[in-house]
Amino acid sequence: MPNQDQTYEEANKVAKTNFKNFSDSLPSVLSQKEAKIAKRLTKANMPVLKKLNRLYALMDDLSAHVEKFTPCAKGCNHCCTYPVKVSEIEIQNIENSSGIKRKPIILKQERSKFTPCPFLKDGACSIYDTRPFVCRRHVTMTETNEWCKPENAFEYSFPLLSFTEINKSYDLIRVESGRPSLLEIRDVF
Ligand code: SF4
Repeated sequence: MPNQDQTYEEANKVAKTNFKNFSDSLPSVLSQKEAKIAKRLTKANMPVLKKLNRLYALMDDLSAHVEKFTPCAKGCNHCCTYPVKVSEIEIQNIENSSGIKRKPIILKQERSKFTPCPFLKDGACSIYDTRPFVCRRHVTMTETNEWCKPENAFEYSFPLLSFTEINKSYDLIRVESGRPSLLEIRDVF
């Protein structure tokens, strides 16, 4: 048990309350944007890479309101040792923005369960502005980050920064890109 003062049930209740309070605290213009994002992106006549960045921009806008409901902060990087799945369009986005190219041959490798992400440098994300969708969504709502420690990561689940229309948009973008499958970031870079 990671936090002797709280059972999992108690911690999950706090996380659910935090997520609800966060959702309720959002400016209505932002909630409406989230509710319409999938439809808007489906109709939009623009390159799929631009759609991905529109989606990321909305997630950034939402994240700007989450600070008081999460222990996530720069310097905490437990989740950067978890598996990170990326799609082709996100790989292109990272390549374009960082100048770092994918490995010439992508092979699925066996590795120890909690291998740090290749973009984790000096304890922080070195591609923060273009970090993948799953990293943007991984904002915990628990009281502390104790529950995020790798030894607890797969035993307990909590609400994340996850919204129906945003998740739907991500799936739509991957399908529209023509390469919807997901690869492990450590196999690609
Ligand atoms: S891309 Fe960045 S945020 Fe995502 S796991 Fe890697 S270092 Fe962490």
